[in-house]
Amino acid sequence: MEYDFLIVGTGLFGATFARLATNAGCKCLVIDRRPHTGGNTHCIDISGINVHQYGPHIFHTKSEDVWRFVNKYATFNRFTLSPIANYHGQLYNLPFNMNTFRQMWDATTPQQAMAIIDSQRYHGTPRNLEEQALALVGKDIYEQLIKGYTEKQWGRSCRNLPPDIIKRLPLRYTFDNNYFDDPYQGIPIDGYNSFIDKLLQGSEVMTGCDFFDGLANDWRHTAHTLVYTGMIDQFYQYRYGRLQYRSLRFETETLQTPNYQGVAQMNFTDANTPYTRIIEHKYFQCSGNDIYHNPMTVITREYPQPYTPDSEPYYPVNDDTNNRLYSLYKALAGKETDIIFGGRLAEYRYYNMDQTIASAMRKWSQYQGQDNRHGT
Ligand code: FAD
Repeated sequence: MEYDFLIVGTGLFGATFARLATNAGCKCLVIDRRPHTGGNTHCIDISGINVHQYGPHIFHTKSEDVWRFVNKYATFNRFTLSPIANYHGQLYNLPFNMNTFRQMWDATTPQQAMAIIDSQRYHGTPRNLEEQALALVGKDIYEQLIKGYTEKQWGRSCRNLPPDIIKRLPLRYTFDNNYFDDPYQGIPIDGYNSFIDKLLQGSEVMTGCDFFDGLANDWRHTAHTLVYTGMIDQFYQYRYGRLQYRSLRFETETLQTPNYQGVAQMNFTDANTPYTRIIEHKYFQCSGNDIYHNPMTVITREYPQPYTPDSEPYYPVNDDTNNRLYSLYKALAGKETDIIFGGRLAEYRYYNMDQTIASAMRKWSQYQGQDNRHGT
């Protein structure tokens, strides 16, 4: 057998697993059906600007282990995500913090803001996302900053979405626009592509190669173990039915202006604007007046879409029905002895990048524990 591992998917799960296996002396073949590596972290250069082709990717983590791992293969800048919400032309800081409360109600003290929110809260047991949001943040924030955005994102009324999609909506009673609560945050200075290249160094890589075009039936002639990061329902030929996913359409434009919106991310929270957000990519690389060094800018509008077999499955829809269906596929996967399932699509989990890497590290350790060929 030529390879220790056949890894399906060059996204962060596949690439991290390949790195760990290669470091341990294993031979990996890593394939991807897309024409490039990196999965959803892939970037393209447009007019000297590193454009996040599949939506903005900001790396953030609380995990020391993950941060130590990624810093071996990339140097990160200190990008801090501070998005702006645009509701019918009124601008608000996100996440919800004292700046937001001042903009919305002219509240200037935490006590004033707390009293307003408390007076607007829903007090019953939330049966859907709308009631959950009303219980957590009250009517004004829900109606202006959550409802329209969430309904566009999921293509359903908030009354028909499960409450646990938003387990918590952090309210910060401080003037702090830093979106993430994590000690580590940034963007690779040389870009995600270079980071992924370093993870894949030493592996054999084939892009434009779909696992289901041939290899699926006789992969055991190629490798000892399969690492599969595609859709788990597709792997089992939709035996129990199809899992639901949500897709996106990206509309990217190059503009002859150095600074279009003054911020990396603007969320459009009303129901009428058909896109959810506009990303201005140069902000991920530079800040302050460095923005003006390039006279052009590149923006992307993000339109949520229903998933169809011709589109990309970006988000699992983790409601009760889909989670139940997934548990059937997971039970099948649990019986496999030479197949490892990992990543957003194979684990049907809304993983961030750090969680994806942590999952690959965990699965590699489990594999090492079971397989003494590569030692522990
Ligand atoms: P993927 O990146 O999807 O990689 C899977 C790969 O497998 C794909 O390249 C696919 O082409 C390939 N594949 C699938 N089926 C086959 C097949 N049959 N044959 C061959 N190849 C196959 N996370 C953050 O931490 N911060 C962010 O700011 C952030 N922003 C995001 C924005 C958007 C719009 C999206 C969609 C995700 C975002 N994420 C973010 C999440 C992040 O993208 C994921 O955590 C991570 O990319 C998951 O990696 P993965 O390897 O599991 O999946």
